[in-house]
Amino acid sequence: MPQQDPFGPDTLPYGVFTTADAPEQRRIGVRYGERVLDAGAIATVRGSAHAELLVAPDLGPLLAAGRPVWQAVRAEVRDWISEEPFLLPLADVTLHLPFEVADYVDFYASEHHATNVGRIFRPDGDALTPNWKHLPIGYHGRAGTVVVTGTEVVRPSGQRKTPADDAPTFGPSRRLDIEAEVGFVVGTPSSAPVPLDGFRDHVFGVCLVNDWSARDLQAWEYVPLGPFLGKSFATSVSAWITPLDAFDDARTAPPERTHPLLPYLDDSAAEPAGLDIRIDVALNGEPLTSPPFSTMYWTAAQQLAHMTVNGATLRTGDLFASGTVSGPEEHQLGCLLELTKGKGPFLQDGDEVTITAWAPGPDGSRIGLGEVTGRIAPAAPAADTATDAGAP
Ligand code: CA
Repeated sequence: MPQQDPFGPDTLPYGVFTTADAPEQRRIGVRYGERVLDAGAIATVRGSAHAELLVAPDLGPLLAAGRPVWQAVRAEVRDWISEEPFLLPLADVTLHLPFEVADYVDFYASEHHATNVGRIFRPDGDALTPNWKHLPIGYHGRAGTVVVTGTEVVRPSGQRKTPADDAPTFGPSRRLDIEAEVGFVVGTPSSAPVPLDGFRDHVFGVCLVNDWSARDLQAWEYVPLGPFLGKSFATSVSAWITPLDAFDDARTAPPERTHPLLPYLDDSAAEPAGLDIRIDVALNGEPLTSPPFSTMYWTAAQQLAHMTVNGATLRTGDLFASGTVSGPEEHQLGCLLELTKGKGPFLQDGDEVTITAWAPGPDGSRIGLGEVTGRIAPAAPAADTATDAGAP
């Protein structure tokens, strides 16, 4: 395997696959280069103490097992990873959503993104709301419409109203957008607030997220309670969940904090909790933008601390996403709304968006994140008389 392969022995992400000869039998796999290790099969043959977790049809039992087991299994997988009889060509397997998503939370943690969007959506007000530097803003999304990479995304329909319109109209979104994000998958449940230093005990791993957004629906509906139908139709995630332990060499200090933080969010004395993940977005195979995750103002540890500080508990399979990742430069903006300064063009039917990413690993290696891709399908026919003849 080439030394720069982002899916080498230091990455080892988990996923769920089936093969053509056993399409009903979901199996846990570990990606190694362009191949997949059948983790359940080798764990059984080798008599692993963790075989029960790896013959499961999804990652749920492994996620729930907790960090000491995650580390033990990762060490076993590292020993097994080049065992030829258990490696299948990646091209020969079908990948599935690797865990049952419990709750889905989406944050808004990029200062560049929040500033740019604030200027577009609220041109007469302050770009950042007064709370932005004091807490990681988020909302609860829709877990049931989180879909795995490769799933077609049907253009949503809904109410749209621009400032120039006298009244809202109903029809397919004309401003369908992407949001390049990084997602965090909760393994260990919680019954009490999770402090900043509890992050690694509860979060199993990292995935890529495309949080599709219908900007026209969103702009009309979002005041005062936030995103709803403009976001809930689909959220795509990568098929591979990369363990947090793979990112030890990617840890980096977040941007300097400009406002003092309340103690439960104050990470000034903590280990650096930012992650140097380099994201690339392609539209129909052409490079579109390269957002740097290292520029995110709020870290995932702060997000987890904030979302549990009120007593809200965590469940295995909870997914929280960073919010759109945008850097300070023109070629680092994480959505079309920002890239086109609100003017478009937005996504057309048939467009395909692919997000990839990597992070620095040990000894100059790269830690790859599984890609997340999706193609836009035309809007479904209107269910009632509220139709719209105009093409998006
Ligand atoms: Ca989002």
